[in-house]
Amino acid sequence: MCGIIAIAASERRKDLGLLLTEALKRLEYRGYDSVGIAVIDGGDLYIAKNVGTVESVAKSEDFAAFSGSVGIGHTRWATHGAPTRENAHPHVDCTKKIAIVHNGIIENYAELRDMLKSRGHTFTSDTDTEVIPHLIEEIKSSGLDTYSAFKKAVSMLKGTFAIVAIDSDDARKIFFARRVSPLIIGIGVNTVLASSDIVSILPFTRNVIVLNDDELGYAEPGKVFIEVINGTPVDIASRVQRVEYSIEEFSRGPYEHYMIKEIREQPYALSQTISGLVSARDEVDKSIKILRDSSTIYIVGAGSSYHASLAGALYLRYHGFKAHAVVASEANIHLRGLRAEDAVVAVSQSGETIDTLLAVRESKKKGARVIAIVNNPLSTIAREADTHIYMRSGPEICVAATKTFTSQVATLLYLGSTLADDSLRTPKALEALKKLPYVAASIIESTEERVKVLAKRMSSAQSAYYLGRAFGYPISAEAALKIKEVAYVHAEAYPAGESKHGPISLVVNGFPVVFTVIGELDELIEGNIEEMKSRGAYVVTVLPTNRVTPTIVNNSNEVIQLPQVPLEVSLVTYVIPHQLLAYYTALERGYNPDKPRNLAKTVTVF
Ligand code: GLU
Repeated sequence: MCGIIAIAASERRKDLGLLLTEALKRLEYRGYDSVGIAVIDGGDLYIAKNVGTVESVAKSEDFAAFSGSVGIGHTRWATHGAPTRENAHPHVDCTKKIAIVHNGIIENYAELRDMLKSRGHTFTSDTDTEVIPHLIEEIKSSGLDTYSAFKKAVSMLKGTFAIVAIDSDDARKIFFARRVSPLIIGIGVNTVLASSDIVSILPFTRNVIVLNDDELGYAEPGKVFIEVINGTPVDIASRVQRVEYSIEEFSRGPYEHYMIKEIREQPYALSQTISGLVSARDEVDKSIKILRDSSTIYIVGAGSSYHASLAGALYLRYHGFKAHAVVASEANIHLRGLRAEDAVVAVSQSGETIDTLLAVRESKKKGARVIAIVNNPLSTIAREADTHIYMRSGPEICVAATKTFTSQVATLLYLGSTLADDSLRTPKALEALKKLPYVAASIIESTEERVKVLAKRMSSAQSAYYLGRAFGYPISAEAALKIKEVAYVHAEAYPAGESKHGPISLVVNGFPVVFTVIGELDELIEGNIEEMKSRGAYVVTVLPTNRVTPTIVNNSNEVIQLPQVPLEVSLVTYVIPHQLLAYYTALERGYNPDKPRNLAKTVTVF
C-alpha cells in the first residue's frame, strides 16, 4: 500500500528534491511509516530515507538539497520487515547505481535472495523489495543494457508489484512495471512521471496512461515506451487519457483536516453522484439490465465499502430480490457457488482494492456479469468490470471514508430503487434521492454542535456498542468502524436484538451504547434501549423526529434528532452524525484523524 513517484525531467532541476517531496505528501495517505527518495545528478545516484512522516523525513534528511534530472520517491506501509531506516525504500544494488521503489509483495523473494546471495550480493534490509535492484544488477553483469535487464528481472518476479527503477548507467530514464498494484504514467511537456495515483501527477499534467497488468517500459521526456511482458508493444497514443479532476479539489482549503472537509462536502458530493447517475444513462441502463437479468446479486466490498454493500443488499432483499453482501477478502468462499446467471457488484472507492479486484476476476472467470461502483473511472476494477458507475464524489484524501461511503450507498439505492420500480427511472425513490444533498446539509448543520459536546463524553470511553435493527445495522457498523479508525475507541456494532445474546454482559455503569433508529422495521428497538439503560449504559439515540417517544427520551442520555425522511434518504444520511462524532472524538483524544496509525487508504496488498 505504498505510494510511489518517479520524475524524469528534460534538464537538471535544482528543485527535484522539493518536487518529489510535494508529490510524496500527496501520496502519504497510502502509507506513512517511512519515506525516501533517490536522484541521479551529474551521473551519480544519491539517496536519502528514514522513518517518519514525509514532512519530518524531508526535513531531517534535507530532501530540498537534492537536485538532478531523474528521481524516485516512496512512502511506505511495511509488509516485509519492520518500519526502519534500512527497510525504507528506495533500495539499491551492491554498486549503488540502481535504485528502485516498489508497492506490493514479491512472493518468491526468499529464493531469489538465496540465489543472489550465493552470487555474492550483499543485502542490507529485511524487505522483499531489495531483491529487485540486485536482480537487475546481476542480469546486467551478463552484458545486457538496463531496460533488457529490468525486463528480464520483472519476468522472474512472482507476486504483486508496481516498480519504478532508475540507473545511473542510463541516467535520463525511469523504468517501470506493473502487476496488480496500480501504476500511472503522466506525460507532461518537460517531464514524464510514474505514480501510484493521479493525485501526484496532476500538478504536472492531465495526460495519463494507466498501465495494465504485466505492462512495463521506460520513459524520458518526449519518449514513452510500453510493452506487455510477452513483448507485444503498446500503442501509446491510443492509451493516453485526460483526467477531469482539478488540483484544487485535492487541497485542504480552510479546514483543519481532510476528514471534516470531506464530511462537510457530502451535500455537494451527493449532488454530483445523483446527477451523474441521472446523466450516465448508458452505464446505469447497462447495470440495471445486468441486475434485472441476474438470478442472485452479490455485492462485494471491503471496510466501509462492505458496510455500503450491506446496506445495498438489505435494501434489495427488502424489495424481494436475492442479494448478499460479501466481504471482499473472503469472496472466494462466498462466491464459490456463483453461477454465470448471477451478477456481482464490486464496490471500491479507489477501484484498486486488491481483494475486491480478485473477486472481480474470479467472478468473470465464472461467467458472471460484474458492475463496479468506484470513485476512479480509470481504476483497474472499473476497467475490468462489464460496466462501471463513477460516483463523482471528488477526491477523498482522509484515510477514513466519509463522503465516498454516502455516495456508495446512494448509488446502490439508486440502482436498487430503479430495479424495484419497473417503470424505470421515475420511481418515488428517485425523487427522494434528489433530496439527499439538502438532507445531508441540514443534518450537518443541526447536529454538529451537539455532537461536539457528546465527543467530550465519548473521548473517555474505552469501548462502545453501536446498535441498530435492520437498516440501522449497516449504519451502526460503519459508525463503529469510524470511531475505531480515527479515535481508537474500541467499538462493536450489533443488530440490536442480538445484543441480549452476549454483548449485554459487558454493559456496566456509564458504558456507551449508541442506537441508530432508521424508522423502518424498528418497532422493537425501544425495548433494547430500555434494557441497556436499566444496566447503567450511557445511551445515545440517533433517530428521526417522528420516532421520538417518552420511553426513548427517558431512557437516553442523549437524543440526536434527525429529519423524518424516506428510507432511501435516511439510509444514506443517518451516518453523518456518527462521522462527526468519530471526528470530534479523535480531536478530543489528541489524534490526527486524517492519518490513523497502521491504516492506509488504498489497500493493494492482501
Ligand atoms: N513489500 C514492500 C515492503 O514491505 C512494499 C510494501 C507495500 O507495498 O505496501 O517494503
